[in-house]
Amino acid sequence: MLTAMGDVMRRAYEKGWITTRDGNISVRRAGKNTLYITPSGWRKTIIHPEHIIKIKIKNDELLVPNGAVPSGELEMHHKLQMLNRNKTQAIVHLHPTNIIAACFAGWDMQELAAEFPEVSRYTRVGPTVPVLPVTSSELAQATFHAMTDTKDIKFDIIAQANHGVCAIAQNPWDAYEHIERLEHICEIALKSGVRPY
Ligand SMILES: [Zn+2]
Repeated sequence: MLTAMGDVMRRAYEKGWITTRDGNISVRRAGKNTLYITPSGWRKTIIHPEHIIKIKIKNDELLVPNGAVPSGELEMHHKLQMLNRNKTQAIVHLHPTNIIAACFAGWDMQELAAEFPEVSRYTRVGPTVPVLPVTSSELAQATFHAMTDTKDIKFDIIAQANHGVCAIAQNPWDAYEHIERLEHICEIALKSGVRPY
């Protein structure tokens, strides 16, 4: 699972879905009180298991080890990782080009996904979060409310306007697939030349 965190980052970089230091991934195993997350500012092309930051969870609080600098989006991961504690869960945040472009062009991600059975069959797309400052508490809160009903995860992926996506699954590669599916139809929508509804 920790190896997959680095592998997904490398694939995302090859795809052009992040620049060198962008993106972040967290993993929490079923019933365990440890959150694994990618470090802040690290070159994501050279992330390996020994670089992943291990954070103890105590009474829903995170005990970040001294000297460790976890991803700036830690709050977003933390809020979402406190749900579904009995299940292993991975959260992947990337900046996929065509999803961001399609949102920028005015496409509604939920309406667009509903038009494409290969997405709607496998991936639940939630409402897009408005433009908010990167790594802010506002972004963490808005992402949490877009993806959940505050008790359960309701969607597999949501877009964050002018910024990126947040995807959740049982492992980093499954979350990557949610992103890949939405990215693919956004590319198709943009190439079609059709304007948003
Ligand atoms: Zn980001």
